Amino acid sequence: MLATNEPSFRESVDLMFNRAVRLMDLSPGLEQKIRVCNSTYTVRFGVRLRGKIETFTGYRSVHSEHMEPVKGGIRYAMSVNQDEVEALAALMTYKCALVEAPFGGSKGGLCIDPRAWDTHELEQITRRFAYELIKRDLIHPAQNVPAPDMGTGEREMAWIADQYARMHTTDINAWACVTGKPTHMGGMKGRVEATGRGVQYALREFFRHPEDVAAAHLTPGLAGKRVVVQGLGNVGYHAAKLLSEEDDCRIIAIIERDGALVDENGLDVQAVRDWMSQHEGSLAGYPGTGLTPDGAAALELDCDILIPAAMEGVIHQGNAARIKAPLIVEAANGPITFGADEILRQRGTVIIPDMYANAGGVTVSYFEWVKNLSHIRFGRMQRRAEEARSRLLVEELERLSSDKGLGWTLAEDFKDRFLQGSDELELVRSGLDDTMRTAYQSMREVWRSRDDVEDLRTAAYIVAIDRVAKSYRSKGL
Ligand code: GLU
Repeated sequence: MLATNEPSFRESVDLMFNRAVRLMDLSPGLEQKIRVCNSTYTVRFGVRLRGKIETFTGYRSVHSEHMEPVKGGIRYAMSVNQDEVEALAALMTYKCALVEAPFGGSKGGLCIDPRAWDTHELEQITRRFAYELIKRDLIHPAQNVPAPDMGTGEREMAWIADQYARMHTTDINAWACVTGKPTHMGGMKGRVEATGRGVQYALREFFRHPEDVAAAHLTPGLAGKRVVVQGLGNVGYHAAKLLSEEDDCRIIAIIERDGALVDENGLDVQAVRDWMSQHEGSLAGYPGTGLTPDGAAALELDCDILIPAAMEGVIHQGNAARIKAPLIVEAANGPITFGADEILRQRGTVIIPDMYANAGGVTVSYFEWVKNLSHIRFGRMQRRAEEARSRLLVEELERLSSDKGLGWTLAEDFKDRFLQGSDELELVRSGLDDTMRTAYQSMREVWRSRDDVEDLRTAAYIVAIDRVAKSYRSKGL
């Protein structure tokens, strides 16, 4: 539970912003302009369901329009409120600036328990919410482009895209009005895994910098690291699965709504996820490992890396001092409150901040939006040309070898891999990897080169705010 003197989520984001701008040279006017949320639209609409009219409350908040369109997900949860949506919209501004996705920041939310409604009802509710936003240009390929967030996914994005297309029948760019769509509707391969994949790439990049690893008092190398993951939704699942299967990390605990599974030998992430989908999201009864009912306590387990991938405010003033992980990767938005952040910083915990760690989602959303506007799949023009060039080289090497009697033979599996042109998924992963590396480097450069910058979060804010400020200044502000 949050301590009573804990600031709200939006206040927490503002306090972190303030901590960074104090170290910058911005005019107070510009500082205030960047900090404030430009607008929040609240809509209450009715849908006739099960024989009566149900009223729903939704929001779309636009934090900054220094670049357009503005970008950010739409969340479905009972806990959605204006403060939360505004905090998340602000984080989108900084996140996009940090990873150089050319967007302003926005976020939406609908107060709803998505599990309380069946598919057809959810479609009616989503289409109606989308209608309300579309008619005010709060969903628009050039102005405001939503994406999935907690409680929403490809299915909801498909309904939104279709609703927009119905209301703009001649807009050739209609599908660019939303990202995270299914691939058959202009969606992007690799978008579903993107946020978790981004967490993996973030950690790989962190471990490429020995000084940073030493700051977290960790031994070199990601392999063998003991990881605790909170939340096995889209982000936590992909992060945990990729880290265990591709980087040899050991997932020693998974925390979910109804408790935690703890196994020092490492959990099988796929098996846990399968169990959850067969048991209405519950971990109860998972074979072999008993479920510890106090999930929150598992955040305090001794481990190398803690990945909160559920929701905001889970590490607060009440439990921060007991967190043992020397490295925390914020896969969720805002999982550490401002108060907790101060406690953890004093204890020397290294935090890879949300605006960087979970930026993989919006990065691949950017690729999807570009693909929708260019109306062509990435790699379609180059793939076979790339293959033909590689083939030329292989054939020439083989010819030289036989002409000169050198006896060289190229291994068949090398040849297969070398001769293959990149498909869309490979290109997306390459673009994401490059983005995560570059953004980390820009953040760590500030962290490492300035004595007054003590942590990665403050560094991330400085890089992001500086870019937003430059953009406002060139607009004449
Ligand atoms: N909801 C995701 C986030 O918080 C993705 C946003 C997007 O792709 O626009 O970053």
